[in-house]
Amino acid sequence: MRLMLEPKAIGRTIVSVTMNRPEIIEHPDPSIFRDLCVGHPIVSMGRRGKYVSLELDSGDSIWFHLRMTGRMLSVPSDEPEQKHTHIIFRLDDGTDLRFTDSRRFGRFWLIRDEEEDTFTGMSRLGPEPLDGDITGQYLEERVGHCRRCVKSCLLDQSVVAGIGNIYADEILFGAGICPTRKADTLETGDWERISDLIPKVLGKGLSDDLESPEWYLSGREGDWEESPYVMYGHEGDPCPTCGTTILRTVISNRSSYFCPNCQR
Ligand SMILES: [Zn+2]
Repeated sequence: MRLMLEPKAIGRTIVSVTMNRPEIIEHPDPSIFRDLCVGHPIVSMGRRGKYVSLELDSGDSIWFHLRMTGRMLSVPSDEPEQKHTHIIFRLDDGTDLRFTDSRRFGRFWLIRDEEEDTFTGMSRLGPEPLDGDITGQYLEERVGHCRRCVKSCLLDQSVVAGIGNIYADEILFGAGICPTRKADTLETGDWERISDLIPKVLGKGLSDDLESPEWYLSGREGDWEESPYVMYGHEGDPCPTCGTTILRTVISNRSSYFCPNCQR
């Protein structure tokens, strides 16, 4: 999302902020948030885990998290508002950055230049999955003693920042490990396979996404002809490796898909 938005956002000045749902601004007060945004050019974008930022020339940073169903779109300002449009950043080139979110779990914060961030939750994030810091040894030391299931460990953002529900299923399928398996039953080789797959699976998702930025940014609803994921959404389909029927279970209130034959 950051890579798709960057060419639309960088160098543009925010001319107004419309808040249809001011309650999704968590910090500071929404009217202060708006005052600190308006009139300022966006000089860069950043990302940490699943948090994304718009950096302003003032040194202040707008941070946001999409949570379950949030999307940040780039559309012409004269385009009608879609349903569930909560925040509109109007830019000086006749386009908007619009935040839409049917479930309204997404949040925004503005961190002042040199303000200590005690409110976004970013200070609790683990290492980045694409920076090469996630080794088998790291995972084993960090969660190898846990009684929790291995999938919950991978979704724990303080262990690895940025792995989501769908990607956790793809990683565990690749590693041949059942998502419900207790973490303390995994062996060193299991953690090695998982750590090898984390950047591969996330990197593939990244390149797949970047093939369709216009589709994403327009905000049209995802109408997959074919799921781009091997496991996610494939309950009842044959496993691509062995043909066994893919099962669905619920872990941490989220759907999990796995092959009962390939994943032990
Ligand atoms: Zn299988």
